[in-house]
Amino acid sequence: MHRKTLIIKTGSREEFLDITAKVREFIRSTGVERGCLVVFVPHTTAAVTINEGADPSVIKDLRNALHRLVPYGDRGYGHREGNSDAHIKASLLGSSLHLLVEGRELLLGTWQSIFFAEFDGPRQRQVWLSLVF
Ligand code: ZN
Repeated sequence: MHRKTLIIKTGSREEFLDITAKVREFIRSTGVERGCLVVFVPHTTAAVTINEGADPSVIKDLRNALHRLVPYGDRGYGHREGNSDAHIKASLLGSSLHLLVEGRELLLGTWQSIFFAEFDGPRQRQVWLSLVF
């Protein structure tokens, strides 16, 4: 098993960062021919998701839709830290992905990219990568 921690610095409270190139770079660096890659976010107010990377409007629309769906601020949330919206958004998207590796390459659909989703930034974050083969 190969492991790597990506360090991600986010610049605003809600932000989606395309980490596909970093994930591909890790896979190539291992030299592993085929396996299963787990991408895990060890945070409760950030997430990881796959969606279209070709048109940036898609991710912008996703971010805005989540923002409307789960508003920030005092909306009767019980959590006193004041960031309940971020916890809820993180759970909606999820904290891990399972991806396939073949021929030393990540298998993704034509339009798919991997996004780190920040909901309570700006912060320094981690993404854990484990390639099992
Ligand atoms: Zn909290």
